[in-house]
Amino acid sequence: MIPAHLPSLPQFLPFTRPSLDEATIAAVGDTLRSGWITSGPRVQEFEAALSAMFGGRTVRAFSSGTITLEIALELAGVGPGDEVITTPLSWVATANVVLHRGARPVFVDIDPVTRNLDLDRVEAAVTAKTKAIIPVDLAGLPVDRDRLYAIARRHSLRVIEDAAQSLGASWRGRPIGADGDFVSFSFHANKNLTTGEGGALVLPADIDPAFCERLRLQGVRRLDGGEMEVDVAGHKGNLTDIAATIGLGQLRRLDEFTARRRELARRYFARLDPAQGAPDLGLGLPPADFADSNWHMFQVLLPLERLALSRGELIAALRERNIGVGVHYPAMHLFALYRGLGYAEGNFPHAERVGAATLTLPLFPAMTDANVDAVCDHLIDLIQSE
Ligand SMILES: *Cc1c(COP(=O)(O)O)cnc(C)c1O
Repeated sequence: MIPAHLPSLPQFLPFTRPSLDEATIAAVGDTLRSGWITSGPRVQEFEAALSAMFGGRTVRAFSSGTITLEIALELAGVGPGDEVITTPLSWVATANVVLHRGARPVFVDIDPVTRNLDLDRVEAAVTAKTKAIIPVDLAGLPVDRDRLYAIARRHSLRVIEDAAQSLGASWRGRPIGADGDFVSFSFHANKNLTTGEGGALVLPADIDPAFCERLRLQGVRRLDGGEMEVDVAGHKGNLTDIAATIGLGQLRRLDEFTARRRELARRYFARLDPAQGAPDLGLGLPPADFADSNWHMFQVLLPLERLALSRGELIAALRERNIGVGVHYPAMHLFALYRGLGYAEGNFPHAERVGAATLTLPLFPAMTDANVDAVCDHLIDLIQSE
């Protein structure tokens, strides 16, 4: 039964939805009519705009965040026999790309407060085979860059920042992407800036952008007189001008999007944080970081031990009330693929606990304050009605 006193949502509220304006849609029409729809002038313009945001660092665009990460690993020299340290609490792409390089993902448990890689545990996982670290800014909350790079320097490790979720976030007042070694972004439809599908890599100074471009497109090098040469088996990972046109339209509004996400997150805290007068439901709230995070997601940890409903039942009940929520993510070392590499239940207790209890509430720039209130009213009702 849906209590009559609660606000009802006339339309389904998804957990996220891209904000695409009419100017962007018109610009895509212009690109389609231009006669040049794959990689061309719009991609170069998009790369230049991203570069400007990152203090002039070199940026190359790709067809997905996954291929961006994979090519970054290749540029970093990660190959068969190497180990790469990363978090078990991320989208599975983060570890899959390590396997694609023939290397081994070495998981390290998360910090239960930030839900990111626990930097206190990283050094104990370093071996003679360790080549790189892939930190993930889960939900847009940046990993501590000072401590991360201190560890990387001490052990001569490369860093491939999986910043798929942290475009628009910052560290010490500087945008994620402006500093660091390799920084990889995703522009999947659910990310804070979308191109439909897409990604971008910020390159460190020791990497030749021309070699990066060859890895992006079949290893082809264009020579004078229309000739070509191929000296490496490159990928097929180039972004289209259609996608880049969407990205340019999104980039103009990124600051506005981030500001609105922060406002919505503040409202979630006002409605769910007992310290601000909310009923104490035993929910685990994310760190209230309004300086650095871009609030890619607002994730609560459910008090499963005192809940009569399972997480799946709660998700179904919310859906019945027109509220879409998500699970980001189950701990990935428990997937069959990674169990097959020797990982097992009990290896990373914090990641397992968070992965089992996490729930992503709706959060996207076009959401209204009333939407947040409705989500909280229904969530509180379902948790309390036990
Ligand atoms: C989205 C995402 C990726 C992969 O990006 P795609 O564009 O979907 O290929 C990788 N890592 C994290 C943490 C992500 O959120």
